[in-house]
Amino acid sequence: MTAPAPLPPAPARVLVLNSGSSSLKYQLLDPRAGVRLAQGLVERIGERSSRLKHTPEGGESREHIGPIPDHDAALKAVATELDRDGLGLDSPELAAIGHRVVHGGMSFTEPTVIDDAVLAEIERLIPVAPLHNPANLTGIRTARALRPDLPQVAVFDTAFHTTMPESAARYALDLGTADRYRIRRYGFHGTSHAYVSRATAALLGRAPEEVNVIVLHLGNGASASAVRGGRCVDTSMGLTPLEGLVMGTRSGDLDPAVIFHLMRVGEMSADEIDTLLNKRSGLIGLCGDNDMREIRRRVDEGDPAARLAFDIYIHRLKKYIGAYYAVLGRVDALAFTAGVGENAAPVREAATAGLEGLGIAVDAGLNAVRADGARLISPGSARVAVAVVPTDEELEIATQTYALVAERDSEKN
Ligand code: AMP
Repeated sequence: MTAPAPLPPAPARVLVLNSGSSSLKYQLLDPRAGVRLAQGLVERIGERSSRLKHTPEGGESREHIGPIPDHDAALKAVATELDRDGLGLDSPELAAIGHRVVHGGMSFTEPTVIDDAVLAEIERLIPVAPLHNPANLTGIRTARALRPDLPQVAVFDTAFHTTMPESAARYALDLGTADRYRIRRYGFHGTSHAYVSRATAALLGRAPEEVNVIVLHLGNGASASAVRGGRCVDTSMGLTPLEGLVMGTRSGDLDPAVIFHLMRVGEMSADEIDTLLNKRSGLIGLCGDNDMREIRRRVDEGDPAARLAFDIYIHRLKKYIGAYYAVLGRVDALAFTAGVGENAAPVREAATAGLEGLGIAVDAGLNAVRADGARLISPGSARVAVAVVPTDEELEIATQTYALVAERDSEKN
């Protein structure tokens, strides 16, 4: 008797899409194995000089420049590239498509399988995320049209922060007005904060439920969060990603009266102030550069504007570390992540300098080592572990998407 034919492998691949207004970022992953199979980016969608850059894992990048009129054409071009690598979107191994959605408001506390009602709710949230949610919706609609049979999952940037207590999530604003306009602190970068806080616990060899972590996500956008036992209890971004830390081009915290002052005295419109605070402030507004490498180079050359920008950036960061220390009461780890947090040793050194009284210290030798994986940079004797933990938002989206689809399938069977 011949042995039965082996069953085909269960679908385990997830395509992660991050759709912007004129861009489409994607990764194809196998979250069970923690493996990336391909990644890429379509830029300048709708222009004549659209660009698609596709990189199969371990292979050479391929680049195409030429008009890609809309997201539908962009996703089809991505599918063609994946096909060339034998990873086509019609493969039976593709289990689901996971979409990064920036704003889930209070409606979405978890990853959610997308249906018409979910789409309508994401649409209803456009007033609180006018830049992001419309672009995310376009990505979802495009992917649904291409593979209507495949589960599509929305993973929200705000979801991890929905565990914040009201005392942290509310502004001290007239309650009726706040509720009428859905004004509260939602927080962003949640996928990264979730991933990094869990990876930090793993680095310490402990369960996420046992540890309190301050996560510092320092990229071009930047946010801090206080995570108690795996649940977010405070975060620095608010109604929009403008609040909190000094960022590449965003001011972070300021006295709201600055806005009335600019309107009354500077005769600026709301749109002009919006652009000023979101695009022309932060590091770029202070010194003309938003890349921390360039700022550090200028600081080392004695440039006063770069020095001031760096000092303001660090001062704000320290204030948040202190604030979240107080919020948590006990801190087991401080985790640095994203472009600046993972790479800029001088930022990590300056942000933790003088915090020995809080049990926070960095070992200069360990801090200077450049490495890829998660690692500790605090001396063995320190009360608080200081860690560098590379974030991986796409892997987190793929993991959450796969977990949801697998759970749904097991309930069906
Ligand atoms: P992200 O938004 O996480 O991609 O981070 C982008 C930012 O990371 C850039 O604007 C740079 O300021 C910063 N960055 C990347 N590499 C380095 C590096 N080697 N040293 C300092 N900053 C870096």
